[in-house]
Amino acid sequence: MSKKNQSKADAYSFFSCIEKNFDKAARYLSIKKGLLEQIKSCNAVYRMHFPVKIGKEIQVIEAYRVQHSHHKLPCKGGIRYSIKVNQDEVMTLAALMTYKCAIVDVPFGGAKGGIKIDPQIVSAENIEKITRRYTSELIKKNFIGPGIDVPAPDYGTGEREMSWIFDTFLSLSPGEVDALACVTGKPVSQGGVRGRKEATGLGVFYGIRELCKMKEEMLSVGLDVGLNGKKVIIQGLGNVGYHAATFFHEAGAIIVALAEREGAIYNKKGLNVSNVILHLKKTGSILNFPESKNIEDTEKALELECDILIPAALENVIHKHNANRIKAKIIGEAANGPVTPEADDILGKKGVLIVPDIYLNAGGVTVSYFEWLKNLSHVRYGRMEKRFSENMNTELLQVIETSCRKKIPIEEKKMILRGPREIDLVRSGLEDTMINGFHKIRDLKKSLKIENLRTAAFVLAINKIIDSYEKLGIFP
Ligand code: NAD
Repeated sequence: MSKKNQSKADAYSFFSCIEKNFDKAARYLSIKKGLLEQIKSCNAVYRMHFPVKIGKEIQVIEAYRVQHSHHKLPCKGGIRYSIKVNQDEVMTLAALMTYKCAIVDVPFGGAKGGIKIDPQIVSAENIEKITRRYTSELIKKNFIGPGIDVPAPDYGTGEREMSWIFDTFLSLSPGEVDALACVTGKPVSQGGVRGRKEATGLGVFYGIRELCKMKEEMLSVGLDVGLNGKKVIIQGLGNVGYHAATFFHEAGAIIVALAEREGAIYNKKGLNVSNVILHLKKTGSILNFPESKNIEDTEKALELECDILIPAALENVIHKHNANRIKAKIIGEAANGPVTPEADDILGKKGVLIVPDIYLNAGGVTVSYFEWLKNLSHVRYGRMEKRFSENMNTELLQVIETSCRKKIPIEEKKMILRGPREIDLVRSGLEDTMINGFHKIRDLKKSLKIENLRTAAFVLAINKIIDSYEKLGIFP
């Protein structure tokens, strides 16, 4: 059987994979079956078909919005544009959002959207038409709004699509003072927050950096503490993968391979990520990058020698057929659902440390939360305190200089005096969230003797959701 057919034969419901992970975690908790069922199930699934005129033809577009949980409102989750979009996938991604938000203390229920198109072949003009029509369909059914359901970017979408969504929402909701908060991931010029674009990749970096600081875990996989010098492979050079690669590179990790759709490139001495991007922009492909080896079968890049493997493209890329050949000691799930449950078992037995998606890629929704808060407060982060902090710091430095009878060099002074800008506050909030989230999961894993970080992360999420149901008085 060819590989393609083999993976088709293995095709199973993505949603049932998440249910399996959920059920493993539920064994550590004494919660009534009915409550667990309520948490697991999707609260609302909206499947739509709408016509769009493309050229001279009318094309019927299939699209979804799934609200997995209403235990907190609004619901929140990205919108994916891909020809592979289907109901099972959108339901699963919505469920992951619920657990993710709970883990990082972001007060939203999980949601996800999807449009079944290939954004690589549809023109920008038609993507705009489809995006605007999709938004008006969501408005018709009350599936979008600052307090209802707030989309964001995901695979195949970015700032451009978010600004079309905002513009459509605004024009159909005249006078809505909080309209900006109907969608996050917008350009900064249209109410976005500085630091959102790179947030998921930066969150992935913070999470893995924290794991690499842990002596016990590093000892268990035979690695030194710290990120410096660690060999990293990244699959997918899109929004998440590109930013993650940049932050790992800047921190001294060695990016030995990068994989894209058309193939992968490898250099055991390390690839310069920004030069790879320049090469990609110039040639349309990462292949044939100077001083690197091409790997035609892009999936093979996952099996190369490395310390850390970061799948940042799509789900189910590590499965039972390649899990045994994976050489990485740490897998950081930047993408949603990149490791199937069978592969998870195989890798667990091999002692591979897997940092799960429901924690590791939560940086995007965390900063989306900051953007939403900014939009509702109608004020830029740092506006109130920047000058105040600078004045206070100036006075403090003057006192220090006078009492020490010493002048602080001007460059050092500038650094100390500076009040916080929006980007500083956003990154600091993200870093704190990712570090806290990691330790909550790790502590729970240790105290309940849970087999791995994924199950511990699910236990944490379920506990938090039950907690909020109890606070609402729904489940006394
Ligand atoms: P993106 O569309 O910006 O990038 C995806 C990249 O993967 C593209 O460059 C694409 O060419 C590449 N790719 C596609 N198929 C591939 C293959 N077979 N091998 C190698 N590369 C391939 O999408 P993104 O926003 O970076 O999302 C990537 C993953 O991260 C998805 O699973 C998404 O759900 C998840 N995620 C994204 C965010 C976010 O903020 N964007 C947040 C959380 C999770």
